[in-house]
Amino acid sequence: MKKTDIPAQIMPLCDPEKRKKNMDEVPLGYTMEMAVTEASRCLDCKNAPCVQGCPVGIDIPKMLKLTAEKKFTEALETVRKMNFLPAICGRVCPQENQCQKECTLGKMKGGTVHPLSIGNIERFLADNYSDELIIKKPASPTGKKIAIAGSGPGGLTCAGELAAMGHKAVIFEALHKPGGVLIYGIPEFRLPRYILSREIEFLRRLGVELVMNTIVGKTITVDEILKEYDALYVTTGAGVPHFPDIPGTHLYGTSSANEFLTRVNLMEAWKKDSRTPLFVGKTTIVIGGGNVAMDAARTATRTGSERVIVAYRREEHDMPARREEVIHAKEEGIEFMFLLSPEKIVENEHGHTGGVLFRKMRSEKNPEGGKNRIFDTDETFLIDCDAVIFATGTSPNPIVAKSLPSLTTNKAGGIAVDMNNMKTSVPGVFAGGDAVSGAATVILTMLHGKTAAKAINEFLK
Ligand code: FAD
Ligand code: SF4
Repeated sequence: MKKTDIPAQIMPLCDPEKRKKNMDEVPLGYTMEMAVTEASRCLDCKNAPCVQGCPVGIDIPKMLKLTAEKKFTEALETVRKMNFLPAICGRVCPQENQCQKECTLGKMKGGTVHPLSIGNIERFLADNYSDELIIKKPASPTGKKIAIAGSGPGGLTCAGELAAMGHKAVIFEALHKPGGVLIYGIPEFRLPRYILSREIEFLRRLGVELVMNTIVGKTITVDEILKEYDALYVTTGAGVPHFPDIPGTHLYGTSSANEFLTRVNLMEAWKKDSRTPLFVGKTTIVIGGGNVAMDAARTATRTGSERVIVAYRREEHDMPARREEVIHAKEEGIEFMFLLSPEKIVENEHGHTGGVLFRKMRSEKNPEGGKNRIFDTDETFLIDCDAVIFATGTSPNPIVAKSLPSLTTNKAGGIAVDMNNMKTSVPGVFAGGDAVSGAATVILTMLHGKTAAKAINEFLK
């Protein structure tokens, strides 16, 4: 059979009516047969455009060839060489805009052939063969110690790379559980917690140490760290939520997506015996159009909201959320309203959140290309609700920068670095991830972590 005629393997999903009532993972994963069939569609292109589309440069054709030959452990080893968190990236990476976007298959027969589902195969390998992987002994100990502030994907990646080089990597994390957004932001139905624990355990076995409940810049100062450690990597994320400057955002029932998701995901407030309170509205309006908005809306449905509306100020095609997440949200009964900008959170008779007054927006094609331009109209209208969740962006966490005045910051409020080596203005202090760029993606923060680890290694020499 011609490679292009092998049927693309579609990820099986949990039924929407069942899944919207629980936190179980939605995509069910490939079987071995599906993974082997999908991998065998690879054309083994000479120039491997998929590799160029992968920010961390996994040898994708080799991974696919080994999978097609059922050499699964070797296939996973190929992935792990470049990526310490494959089970996570296989699930949350926007592959459709990265490796899969470049896949030659997707450009054949006028775009009617499905690009290879590279992420689904990465997930299959990491889910099923991690335990079989013989961890190569890290390089012999160098005696150097590096502190890392923040245990999100950037901190975990940098620590893993440094440990593999023989350095002692110690992560300090402000929260009581490691993972950053992977534990407090992305919900279980997209990233099960046992998967995250397993990836972190892999790093622990490599020698990475994790110290919880420690705020760098408060519990321990940067000066104290630099006395005890040979270098510091700051990857403290962008966890400070933005609220628009409109009346009523202080009302009971109105919150940021970060707060809502942290209560549910990190503090498990959705469980009956949880001591963390959770306000669940009968009608919830989520404002925003990115992955965070999708996660908040789908979580609101699962925690008991009867009607959930996502309101976005642009048009559907401009939404930054992954298409897959939007489709899943619609299947779960979430309503979408476009070209609406919030003007006021309206108070009900009890002084709590009672609705959102929206201004209708008008969209015009941008002659310079890119997203359409949007303009205010004269029309406003009110939607009644008792909960509002803002998913309208976040900024870098400021604590480390505030505690170290010689650390230069950039226009976005993040830490300023040389992107070639993630060096900051302070010798021995490196920074990366969302703490530098503002809210971005898991794979980009991982790329920063890898770049920083290389530069730290050079610095220590
Ligand atoms: P973070 O993951 O934010 O981790 C930073 C860590 O540092 C946190 O644990 C924080 O508690 C800790 N910290 C902060 N200050 C201090 C301090 N002073 N001392 C010690 N520790 C500190 N990206 C994707 O690619 N795909 C997705 O599907 C996706 N979905 C998302 C959904 C949500 C709800 C959110 C919020 C983000 C999503 N993202 C997604 C973005 C992605 O998760 C982030 O870009 C990524 O997690 C950034 O990693 P990081 O390591 O830089 O920071
Ligand atoms: Fe295989 Fe697609 Fe990569 Fe070509 S671009 S090597 S077909 S995965």
